[in-house]
Amino acid sequence: MKNLIFGGIEGGGTKFVCAVGSAEGESLAETRFPTTTPEETLGRAAAFFQEQIRTLGPLAGLGIACFGPLDPNPDSPSYGRILATPKAGWAGADVVGTMRSALSVPIAFDTDVNGAALGEWRWGAAQGLSTFLYFTIGTGVGGGAMVEGKLLHGLIHPEMGHIPLPHDYAQDPFPGSCPFHGDCFEGLASGPALEKRWGQRAETLPPDHPAWELEAHYIALAMQGFICSFSPQRIILGGGVPQQPSLLPLVRAKTLKYLNNYVGAEAINKHMDTYIVPPGLGSRAGVCGAFALAQQAASGAGV
Ligand code: ADP
Ligand code: ZN
Repeated sequence: MKNLIFGGIEGGGTKFVCAVGSAEGESLAETRFPTTTPEETLGRAAAFFQEQIRTLGPLAGLGIACFGPLDPNPDSPSYGRILATPKAGWAGADVVGTMRSALSVPIAFDTDVNGAALGEWRWGAAQGLSTFLYFTIGTGVGGGAMVEGKLLHGLIHPEMGHIPLPHDYAQDPFPGSCPFHGDCFEGLASGPALEKRWGQRAETLPPDHPAWELEAHYIALAMQGFICSFSPQRIILGGGVPQQPSLLPLVRAKTLKYLNNYVGAEAINKHMDTYIVPPGLGSRAGVCGAFALAQQAASGAGV
């Protein structure tokens, strides 16, 4: 893969980041713009890569790590499209088809969180692991999973942000903010949920605010569920909300408490500080994940 270059798209609900990177994941050129209509947004992405191909040469692959829900199954008629999303204009948008008709390059298409998981596996906090989870806790909550060395898709792809969580209305009367489920994981613990519950943006809540105990409680309940169901070797918590420095230590302590020594693994019971961790790539996890997907596409795993 030496000397090859790769394209990566981190397609978010609010912004798109397009970049060209080396085999080692270094960015050689990058642009970002707001997510507007699919036509305009994907048109800008295609134009960026066409321009880069003119100056830097052909891309060996393009990786698209995108907000969902989406269809990542190459054998499905709706492969490459965004599925039912509340995001105006994007339901049914043909992301892969649009890029394929603009650029003749192998493409890999996956969720933003599966992409970030792959980037963390290649260059970040999950190197050498075969089964781990990557979560983003930001505007939404989502999880990506690598299981026994492969990104997990199953029927479509996991929606780990929408699991139900125990919700004690006496302790927390906030009904939840998910338009589909109310008080699911995302409805209780996303950045917008924090803002609606406490009346101020999450980043303005001080470290000793009771918001963080409650937030850690919900995240730890989710961690208990996912540890018991996936047996991950590590869990990475990315996105804006875990940037509050008091949160991760609280999540670790509560996760240990809720598991109550049931899972007999030293990684959990003795080394919790290295078990639930922030992304090794920091805010680069998304773009690097798209490069890692592109490398999969170039090596024949993409379509
Ligand atoms: P997105 O999910 O839109 O890609 P982010 O992962 O940055 O973007 O998540 C944005 C959410 O994270 C917002 O709700 C914001 O209030 C919250 N957030 C951003 N920075 C912090 C911070 N330092 N502490 C707590 N919450 C934060
Ligand atoms: Zn939900």
